[in-house]
Amino acid sequence: MSRCIPKVLVQGEHFNISTCSSCKRIGFCYKNLISGFDRNDFVGFAQSIIKTPFEKFAVPFPPYGEERIVIKTCHEDIQFCFHPVEFSELKDSLQEALLLIEVESVLK
Ligand SMILES: [Zn+2]
Repeated sequence: MSRCIPKVLVQGEHFNISTCSSCKRIGFCYKNLISGFDRNDFVGFAQSIIKTPFEKFAVPFPPYGEERIVIKTCHEDIQFCFHPVEFSELKDSLQEALLLIEVESVLK
């Protein structure tokens, strides 16, 4: 097993998205949680998030009832939970990452 060598694709206030130059997997890091994807799964994840409207799926969260959106991961017991500002930043970051991944694959 070789060591992962992450290269940051996109970095925001709440996230970073990186690709590993060794195994080519994509890492999505939100606060202290990292979710790993192979390239095709990441593209599917990103496209699905980008077209998800926050308002339609937001639910009130305790203790103050602030609206958040819950996003499933590939592990059924683990979900991400984003407030509106984070979700908007997430969409922008994913859009940018998709573009960079596409450019990278065209240049190969
Ligand atoms: Zn790796």
